[in-house]
Amino acid sequence: MEALVAQYKLAHKSVGFVPTMGYLHEGHASLLRQSALENDVTVCSIFVNPTQFNNPEDFLLYPKDEVNDVLLLKKNGCLVLFAPEDDFVNEIVEVSLDLKGVDKVLEGEFRPGHFRGMVNIVSLLFQIVRPNKAYFGQKDFQQLFIVQKLVAQNFPEIGIVASPTIREESGLAMSSRNARLSAVQREQATKIAKALHLAKSLAKEKRSVSAIKEELRFKFFNNDDLRLEYLEIVDAQTLLPLTDFSFPSRSVVCVAAYAGKVRLIDNMSINS
Ligand code: AMP
Repeated sequence: MEALVAQYKLAHKSVGFVPTMGYLHEGHASLLRQSALENDVTVCSIFVNPTQFNNPEDFLLYPKDEVNDVLLLKKNGCLVLFAPEDDFVNEIVEVSLDLKGVDKVLEGEFRPGHFRGMVNIVSLLFQIVRPNKAYFGQKDFQQLFIVQKLVAQNFPEIGIVASPTIREESGLAMSSRNARLSAVQREQATKIAKALHLAKSLAKEKRSVSAIKEELRFKFFNNDDLRLEYLEIVDAQTLLPLTDFSFPSRSVVCVAAYAGKVRLIDNMSINS
């Protein structure tokens, strides 16, 4: 991979990079297409990084389908697949990055060590692929936020492009983990996106943050279909939970919930 990148650099070809964990879907495809539009060469990596999984079962059950992944990559303008073997994990080194507590809220609170693992693998991949631009989905809003901090500190030469969340017709945000949902759970999981949409319209009606959270909890998470882990409305600039909307900053409603044993996350900007 390093030798290939060196050739591209010599030939003054721009490199767009889409890091993934595989089991690719239309969400990944949208990032790949964007990269193919904006760069000479698009590189996709597939590596399921064990160090960012706090739950060993989630790691073991993470879906894989290399044949389909390659088809999707070819169809969406990706020229290079970088899919290192499992022992790539031994190359990971600890990166020092002061996240000022942003890695301890939302996902960070419930998935200790997740963002450390993510920062370390993304840094390693950036060092190898040396992209001009890298593409990340807003679906993983907090990840995108932290990657932007990482790039500002350690990789100022890389441009980060944020792509909107791609959803199924039902509203469910596309995710590789959706493959583990039963038909019934898949239907139940659509409540997450419905809750986010309702938060957006309630915010437009100038309802308070606490009233919105209460209504969402009551309407969508008040039974056994989904087990809510967190539901927060945060300031998009700081990720800190908001108590009111009195300041004109962008806010984002963020949810994590379990459908059976499958943990799903989603978010939506609610006043932009
Ligand atoms: P993953 O393979 O889940 O680690 O995701 C790889 C990249 O694809 C990350 O930047 C994700 O945010 C992005 N991504 C995953 N699902 C979606 C989606 N539904 N819409 C847009 N981007 C997504």
